[in-house]
Amino acid sequence: MDKKKIDHYRKLLETRRLNLRESVARTEEDGRAAQATDSAQDIADRASSSYQKEFLFAQSNNDRQFLQMVEHALSNMTEGVYGECEQCGEVINERRLDAVPWARHCIGCQEKLERGELEQTQES
Ligand SMILES: [Zn+2]
Repeated sequence: MDKKKIDHYRKLLETRRLNLRESVARTEEDGRAAQATDSAQDIADRASSSYQKEFLFAQSNNDRQFLQMVEHALSNMTEGVYGECEQCGEVINERRLDAVPWARHCIGCQEKLERGELEQTQES
């Protein structure tokens, strides 16, 4: 992939990373606030606030996971392997990268993963 394309995707990914970091920080803040008001509530309020906490928790997990994918893609850029499928090593279609710049798999492998035909590679 040429440098101009890489720069284009890097910019997309860096913007996304910034947004996600802010979102994760904000959700953690909300979670703490929800916890702090817990003690002064009746049972109905407490139930809804525990639901809200769960929601916030799931939300922050999603953001965190997403953030990891974005950071993974950025570190792939540093290593010069950005845009290669981690499963088969093929170059990922640019139209796919335009839509999903943090994609780790080509569309073929992604579909197999979603059908459970491939083991998801776990990385730290
Ligand atoms: Zn592949």
